[in-house]
Amino acid sequence: MIIVLFGAPGVGKGTQAALLSERKNIPHLSTGEALRQAIAAQTELGRVAKQIVESGQLVSDEIVTGIVKEAMDKPEYSNGCIFDGFPRNQSQAEALDSLLEAVGKEIDSVINIKVANEEIVDRMLKRGRKDDSEEVIRHRLDIYNNQTAPLLDYYTNHGKLISIDGNADVEEVYARIENIL
Ligand code: AMP
Repeated sequence: MIIVLFGAPGVGKGTQAALLSERKNIPHLSTGEALRQAIAAQTELGRVAKQIVESGQLVSDEIVTGIVKEAMDKPEYSNGCIFDGFPRNQSQAEALDSLLEAVGKEIDSVINIKVANEEIVDRMLKRGRKDDSEEVIRHRLDIYNNQTAPLLDYYTNHGKLISIDGNADVEEVYARIENIL
């Protein structure tokens, strides 16, 4: 099963992806988490990405599709994947489609978690990540609105998009997602 958890930063994609992964036994791939790990480990990739991630910009498509490609080549991803934070623009969405097509697979569902903007900022400020200062959060929301949100049309046109209301506690949102699958 190939699922994309979609939505603005701070809507709970990571939390839900981790729960789904654990309970359905499907591996979870967060490009943001992979980048944060590379930064912490000070790898070559981490050195390139640090400034960009911490200022809330998007890392290049080449870097993130490289991360995804590398992960998808691993045997544990042969049965499926829950994507969290990828794709984030049109070119990444197309790269993912062709990557999957090459191995005879396709996305089953894109689950769009919807939460009001002010609630998002509150949630992220509580999270306290390095890229969660109010200024960087606003910037990341702008990038989401300009570059990522247009994918809602792309996935609607491909018959993949399902939206849920993410204004509820973690277990309630999980139940809504599970209901769809
Ligand atoms: P996230 O954990 O998904 O909120 O991602 C944290 C940060 O990692 C983002 O603000 C970007 O700087 C970078 N990042 C994660 N995923 C992507 C992606 N698909 N494309 C570009 N940059 C990404």
